[in-house]
Amino acid sequence: MRKNHVLIALFVVVLAVLPMTTATPEFWITQLNYIGLASLVVLGLVLLTGVGGLTSFGQAAFVGVGAYTTAWLTTQYGVSPWLALVAGLVLTALIAFTLGAITLRLSGHYLPLGTIAWSLSLFYLFGNMEALGKHDGIAGIAPLTFFGWSLSGGRNMYYLIWVLVLLAVWATHNLLDSRPGRAIRALKSGAGMAESMGVNTAAYKIIIFVYAALLACVSGWLYAHMQRAVSPSPFGLNYGIEYLFMAVVGGAGYVWGALLGSAVILILKDQIQNWMPRLFNTDANFELIVFGVMLVLVLQYARDGLWPILSGLFRRLTGGAGSRRNAPAPPEAPALPKRERDAPTEHVLEVDAIRKEFGGLVAVNDISFNVRTGEIVGLIGPNGAGKSTTFNLITGVLPATRGQVRFRGQRIDRLSARAIAKQGVGRTFQHVQLLPGMSVIENVALGAHLRTEVGVAAGALHTDRAREAQLLHEAARQLQRVGLGDYLYEQAGNLALGQQRILEIARALATDPVLLLLDEPAAGLRYKEKQDLARVLSQLREEGMSILLVEHDMDFVMRLTNHLVVMDFGTKLAEGVPAEVQRNPAVLEAYLGGIDEDMPGTLPQSATPAAPVAPAHPANATGVA
Ligand code: ADP
Ligand code: MG
Repeated sequence: MRKNHVLIALFVVVLAVLPMTTATPEFWITQLNYIGLASLVVLGLVLLTGVGGLTSFGQAAFVGVGAYTTAWLTTQYGVSPWLALVAGLVLTALIAFTLGAITLRLSGHYLPLGTIAWSLSLFYLFGNMEALGKHDGIAGIAPLTFFGWSLSGGRNMYYLIWVLVLLAVWATHNLLDSRPGRAIRALKSGAGMAESMGVNTAAYKIIIFVYAALLACVSGWLYAHMQRAVSPSPFGLNYGIEYLFMAVVGGAGYVWGALLGSAVILILKDQIQNWMPRLFNTDANFELIVFGVMLVLVLQYARDGLWPILSGLFRRLTGGAGSRRNAPAPPEAPALPKRERDAPTEHVLEVDAIRKEFGGLVAVNDISFNVRTGEIVGLIGPNGAGKSTTFNLITGVLPATRGQVRFRGQRIDRLSARAIAKQGVGRTFQHVQLLPGMSVIENVALGAHLRTEVGVAAGALHTDRAREAQLLHEAARQLQRVGLGDYLYEQAGNLALGQQRILEIARALATDPVLLLLDEPAAGLRYKEKQDLARVLSQLREEGMSILLVEHDMDFVMRLTNHLVVMDFGTKLAEGVPAEVQRNPAVLEAYLGGIDEDMPGTLPQSATPAAPVAPAHPANATGVA
């Protein structure tokens, strides 16, 4: 950490000193100005594409909106450039919001296609509007003045540009390290999981789209006043592609990659334009070919771009791992608000004839059962029985074909996963869904997303630190509770699979649930770890938590559950207290009839069907232990 800070300080000092010495050629200053302008745009792409997974070819068009707004307002109406900046930002936000609301709903390739269409239409708009000077554009734009100080020369603009770039880097860095930032980092590979933690992923997509557009607008505003003239060509699709290219080469997932990528591409472009005509005696557009080859090489050998390679090299040179792995747990902080828990009601969860069909397959066949407050109900059955699908129906991940689910007396079967999470249903996933590149504690903090409000502005300006401390403290507390207190700052992807499942339990607990749904939590755990987990779950029950548990380890299930529901081929086979269900002939048949490799040493073979219990009780049948 410290070393990074030293490096950043060094970088800032070099940036600050460069234009002071007259020894620095004017050309360098100009080049650095262009790198700064591009960095602003690419920084937006880092957040949007690299982190958020949304590809936009249209950023150059937003640069154009910023540039043309100020060009038009300042030359036609004599508006102050600073006011024109505000106008440009408002206009950009409106356009980006509208565009985002339309295109971001669509999945897959529609967004990139939409941004291409948007970029082309704006380009032609710039080139055809009388007021915007058609293809000649607008000239005679006044330089900026800053408290009477004219920023007409390149050297004067330089400071404004780079102060804004560094501010944008700082804000973006801050944002990623905050409550909204964790939600944004979940968009690319964990959107479904994040929704189950209460994250409004659609809203965050629009937010980062607008954020990136605003940065591009600022870049355009600076550009217009630096060039003192605008014309449509720098805002066309080819520049949109170039910005994306800078992001990929620099390292689309890294804030500093934006600066690196912009610098590498712009310097390279300049060099190619200098050398290629001399070498080949033509002035054809060689940089396109070179960039194409480069893109293939980067995608082939450095998928994450150049930044991680550079920073890895630096770390090795300075001999430090730079790891926070052994950092102390976050300090005490006031506890987050907790959900009101009502006195034990009869049933916290009522599943009523719920059904799920996948085409012709009936995965869940009119299943009914209840979970009472403060009990652990086991949902067991061979692989493919429909247990996970039942979980997904209860938590709103999948819509039910028919049937009802009531949680604390309210119907939830038509609600979204996010709304159900908000009501107090926490869950884990059979196939672990976490963000492997993020630390363990941050993964768990994502679970507490709904328990405090931190907006993008507070995140970017780091005025959220008190609330962030609460979130991290809560995450650490849950991790310590489940026995992962030694791994707070480990990358989640480095944990053993069993530990990743435990991490998911901590994350579900961080949502402050009333009902906890655990899908095979003990799979992959060693004997002692299973015992620890059983102890945690019993303790949760004592505290009044209701738990629905899918688990194949019968010892674990038999010891822990108050009530068992057995499924096979989507149908409820039996239900009752564990000891009874264990003797049920239909259950024995389902388990011993060939699938027993999945259920090692499960039901006692000696169990005779001598004292059978009636199979398939109606929903509320057998009593509770
Ligand atoms: P379990 O968790 O009990 O092992 P699942 O609920 O995962 O079983 O699966 C039940 C059945 O539904 C299986 O036959 C499975 O192949 C099928 N299934 C699950 N999810 C889907 C899906 N998204 N599309 C089609 N079939 C599915
Ligand atoms: Mg399953």
